[in-house]
Amino acid sequence: MKVTWWGVRGSVPVPGKDTVAFGGNTACVSVEFGERIVIFDAGTGIRACGNYLLAKHKPVEATIFISHTHWDHIQGFPFFVPAYIPGNRFVIGGPVSDVGGKTIRQAMELQTRYEHFPVRIEQLGARIEYVDCTEGIIEEERPTITACRVNHPATCLAYRIEHEGKVFVYGGDHEPYRNVYRDGDNGEEIDEEFLTELDANVEEQNRKIVDFCSGADLISWDAQYTKDEYRNKIGWGHGWYEYNMEFAQKTCAGHIVFTHHDPARTDAQLNEYEKRLRPSADINGFNLDFAREGLVVEI
Ligand SMILES: [Zn+2]
Ligand SMILES: [Zn+2]
Repeated sequence: MKVTWWGVRGSVPVPGKDTVAFGGNTACVSVEFGERIVIFDAGTGIRACGNYLLAKHKPVEATIFISHTHWDHIQGFPFFVPAYIPGNRFVIGGPVSDVGGKTIRQAMELQTRYEHFPVRIEQLGARIEYVDCTEGIIEEERPTITACRVNHPATCLAYRIEHEGKVFVYGGDHEPYRNVYRDGDNGEEIDEEFLTELDANVEEQNRKIVDFCSGADLISWDAQYTKDEYRNKIGWGHGWYEYNMEFAQKTCAGHIVFTHHDPARTDAQLNEYEKRLRPSADINGFNLDFAREGLVVEI
């Protein structure tokens, strides 16, 4: 499998002199194996991915899995040129939103209503089909693709591809599950027994994500914050470096790539954090990279 990062930024595109090296486009990763092309998320990075595919394939056929429909994961799709060309064919898969109940098709169509964009998605030349994805098996073999729900303010899925003995996991946006009552979020007095039961439940949910990633050759993972930044952004739905380092160790993965960089993070800071964290990855037996636009990893 050839995995390429086209957009590595979280939340909003950030072009400029401080983001030239890592890149300012939002989430998009492609995976190529055999004749198959799978794309994860359609942030602004999908524009360059589309141009690459057009130069290489005729027609272009791909499956696009959307982790969730926050803007930074879908806003590039109207600029994905292969979707305008008759003869090309795409399957777009993604979760049905818990909030508002929109299917992936409805959510994708919403952003190209005339209030927002001049061309409706229904007018595009390529054939586009939609698949609603839920946790569990999505495709059973060659490759096996499974999904796992992760903790984010919107319904969000992580995806795992297994092909010819190799495993890639695309994490989507998320923070670890936590016991919101233990954190005193709602100010109520809560029975200790109930709290302990919830602690066990939270632990189980977090263990499920470790199991989902277990033994992966390569993981692309939301690492937007430092631990200090996370303290002020609990509940915003993103991970932090220190937790993710422990997480990577628990999964026994071979290689983890931190992505969804905070829009405020400069190239110099990303280089510095990468340098600081790598020795710990070395000691614990996995490779660590901070995603840059154009990063390619073959597994
Ligand atoms: Zn995001
Ligand atoms: Zn999000």
